[in-house]
Amino acid sequence: MDRAEMSIDGEQCGADSAFDVINPATGETFAQAPECSAAQLQRAIAAADRAQRAWKRDLNARRTAMRNAAELLQARAEEIGRTLTLEQGKPIAHAIGEVAGAANQLRAAADMPIPHEVTHDDARGRIEVTYRPYGVVAAITPWNYPVLIAMSKIAPALLAGNAMVLKPSPYTPLSTLQIGEVLSQALPAGVLNVVSGGNELGAQLTAHPDIKKISFTGSVATGRRVAAAAGEDLKRVTLELGGNDPAIVLDDADPATLGGSLFWSAFMNSGQICTAVKRVYAPASMLAALTEAVATVAKSAKVGDGLDPDTMLGPINNAMQLERVCELVADARQRGAVIHAGGERMPRKGYFFEPTVLSGVGDDVRIVAEEQFGPVLPLLPYDDLEDAIERANGTHFGLGSSVWSASSERAREVAIEIDAGTVWVNQHLALTPKAPFGGAKCSGIGEAGGRWGLESFMQKHVINERRA
Ligand code: NAD
Repeated sequence: MDRAEMSIDGEQCGADSAFDVINPATGETFAQAPECSAAQLQRAIAAADRAQRAWKRDLNARRTAMRNAAELLQARAEEIGRTLTLEQGKPIAHAIGEVAGAANQLRAAADMPIPHEVTHDDARGRIEVTYRPYGVVAAITPWNYPVLIAMSKIAPALLAGNAMVLKPSPYTPLSTLQIGEVLSQALPAGVLNVVSGGNELGAQLTAHPDIKKISFTGSVATGRRVAAAAGEDLKRVTLELGGNDPAIVLDDADPATLGGSLFWSAFMNSGQICTAVKRVYAPASMLAALTEAVATVAKSAKVGDGLDPDTMLGPINNAMQLERVCELVADARQRGAVIHAGGERMPRKGYFFEPTVLSGVGDDVRIVAEEQFGPVLPLLPYDDLEDAIERANGTHFGLGSSVWSASSERAREVAIEIDAGTVWVNQHLALTPKAPFGGAKCSGIGEAGGRWGLESFMQKHVINERRA
């Protein structure tokens, strides 16, 4: 890409200063993104506020504009997918799929019904519940799935009649800026503004009094800061935060056939998924066979530059995250970990780390207790299933989880004991508009997905009439 520009009030614009964007496959700067000034942010929020007043009035016009925007985005999927691979590192087919998936999400959202209920209606009175937009929404996104996560906010927020100011991660601003440019061609000026900058820009956005709702996806630590900023004006807030998803394998599962499923549930996107499997609990008698099965897949996975069509796993997105993964693996080694696959940073330029499978560590070791967010998976033995469930529940996270068993009944019995937003059975990572997606405990507040995601961008409004 030659130029990345912000979208503010329907115009494409640069800024007085810019920051570097690094290709994680080389560790080198390949582009720059505008550093949004305080005045430009103010202009974006004012434009959104102005545009929202007309946008909220015509649902059919919103549906049409969103459908048109989806077509434009679909047509640019390859180009934006390439940008996404360059700045994020993921395999090109996944990147193009992410953009195409976002276009589908926008198209599907355009057809969603807006909730409206009459909960009581007789001679004595009538109670009507309608759902209204909040106004200007601030959306803040992380670097692992920048396009899909942005769209999971844009589509429902805009359908609901809100306008938006969106700020992507400084590690992956370019694909989101391109989305802003494409969507601006189909949306009225100011309805969607995309600004780029560092963490400070996010803080300015969340503190602004004209923002009525914040939709944030990122780490627990930043989520706390966002919640504190929202507290000042009691802004509505949805927080989609980190996870440390446990997978519990029951003794009736077949370790040989689980190797591939568990590996990809943990290592997709090089482990940089909030709901990736981040620790596995298996019966002690099965642990060796299961570890071997997962390690075999790990050794065969082709790691490389995402632009190479044969690549299955790309690099870690940024130097800080690579350093963290190196540190967690070094700590695990020191605490007695047995490495079954990988274990090292790869001797090439870029932020590559070998897909790593390890055992021999307890629940208190950092690689198990913390969110690694990288291509490393610890497997732990259990003797007693009750104990395994307690250990699985033993962190402050509660995003996803899974149970693997030949018996749905047994899996369900375990599933109901797990304190998480989602428990998958014999799968992991399966997101669908047919279910709300959100975290228990420190993994978040509120939900995305389907009608639940749409309702999170709407204020309920009740008219309660007495007739007799
Ligand atoms: P991060 O919290 O460092 O940054 C996320 C975004 O917040 C970035 O755009 C950043 O610039 C911005 N930001 C930073 N400080 C801010 C502040 N004080 N106020 C407002 N905005 C601020 O997270 P990350 O490293 O980009 O992403 C990785 C984390 O995101 C992991 O913990 C992962 O589990 C989580 N995540 C969660 C979900 C989910 O749906 N639950 C999805 C993807 C990622």
